[in-house]
Amino acid sequence: MSMQRREFLKALGAAGITTSALGGCAAMRGAGHAGQVVVIGGGYGGATAAKYIAMWSGGAVAVTLVEPNAAFVSCPMSNLVLGGSKQIADVTVSYDGLTKRGIKVLRDTATAVDADKRTVRLASGQTLSYDRLILSPGIDFLYNQVPALNNDGAQARVLHAWKAGPQTVALRQQLEAMHDGGVYAISIPRAPYRCPPGPYERACQVAWYFKRAKPKSKVLILDGNEDVTSKKGLFTKAWNEEYKGIVEYRPNHVLTDVDAPTLTAKFETAGDVKADVLNVIPPHRAGAIAAQAGVITANNRWCEVDFLSFESIKVKNIYVVGDSIQIAPAMPKSGHMANQHGKVAAAAVLASLAEQPVNPTPILNNTCYSFITDRDVVHVASVHHYDRDKKTLVTVAGSGGLSPAMNPLEGEYAWAWARNIWADALT
Ligand SMILES: Cc1cc2nc3c(=O)[nH]c(=O)nc-3n(C[C@H](O)[C@H](O)[C@H](O)COP(=O)(O)OP(=O)(O)OC[C@H]3O[C@@H](n4cnc5c(N)ncnc54)[C@H](O)[C@@H]3O)c2cc1C
Repeated sequence: MSMQRREFLKALGAAGITTSALGGCAAMRGAGHAGQVVVIGGGYGGATAAKYIAMWSGGAVAVTLVEPNAAFVSCPMSNLVLGGSKQIADVTVSYDGLTKRGIKVLRDTATAVDADKRTVRLASGQTLSYDRLILSPGIDFLYNQVPALNNDGAQARVLHAWKAGPQTVALRQQLEAMHDGGVYAISIPRAPYRCPPGPYERACQVAWYFKRAKPKSKVLILDGNEDVTSKKGLFTKAWNEEYKGIVEYRPNHVLTDVDAPTLTAKFETAGDVKADVLNVIPPHRAGAIAAQAGVITANNRWCEVDFLSFESIKVKNIYVVGDSIQIAPAMPKSGHMANQHGKVAAAAVLASLAEQPVNPTPILNNTCYSFITDRDVVHVASVHHYDRDKKTLVTVAGSGGLSPAMNPLEGEYAWAWARNIWADALT
């Protein structure tokens, strides 16, 4: 028996719980485990939570991860695939590392959660029982806010590429097929959205490609926000210097609809914009299964959680991590943050199974790197801790900061960050 498993079982024992007592729970029938955890979504949040529950319990808790994709494809670094300096394989990681840890990785989609019975139904027809459920389904798009995009044909022509994978590859192909002198336009939704600096990094990567391969072409940033939402000075400098004459930034462009056949974007107040490659990131909300599970509690979009545990404020035994949550002040929707949520939730789930108190002072950190060229990078970082009076996570005074300027050393740091976080979450 491993050290962690012994310790976990000791904690269960100290709390007066035996494996057989826990086994009385419908969810743990026959498992012979100290608990059964189901994780929905094998992205940054879910993979991390699954790994840490398996690791910290020393295998005492049975973990099942439900994920429809065959492999993990990272959104961070995927903008480099659009620039052409990397391939989709460079940002793809197998789930084998989790399987080797004893996690049951099911290639399936969760279609329904019954919080009373503590069961999850899968598209395959299978039903899973759980003691604790972790939801990390990422985002789904609010196509009702871009009505003409609400069909498969239009979505195949006007891509988001805001979930890395086939859309990333398809958008790269559209950019390659575009004539020199064409216009690539990217529409950014109003905050909060997944990865505040991501669209601006994408504009830089497309501009990097155009500068070398199609120098008469333009990148138009059509921002639904009043101003650049992240790393403003650093991005503006890049657009005015490195990509002068290629990138144009237009704020206050709240998208109302598109005309997919003519690749035209329509806005609340600004005039229509016609592009040769139109890339629309529609407004989004928590992944659909969160709505089905009844844990969306804020603005019909996001899931409010107790920041000490990431348990839903509404439905007991369901923990929500990653982009699906209603964020704390100044907390970005990022992969790094989702990874941190996953660890806090993993510890809280184990504490709750052992009837132990949760850590009262969680500290989370975040760093987002953005590639300006294929190797020059800028970053923004922050540290967040729990404020007992406000009952939320707040930024630690004086923590974090920004790069002074783009530089190649941070390009190396960015790849080290990516390799480390993939190893942390997936092996
Ligand atoms: C272009 C781009 C660049 C980015 N760059 C950075 C960066 O540099 N640094 C950074 O920290 N963050 C970055 N991000 C943000 C980061 O990708 C997200 O914040 C992160 O992926 C959120 O993790 P998550 O677990 O909530 O969602 P995801 O990582 O999207 O994972 C959700 C998973 O749930 C699965 N799923 C959904 N519904 C179901 C269901 N019903 N059943 C089973 N599985 C389901 C999906 O298939 C998916 O694999 C970037 C994002 C984009 C788009």
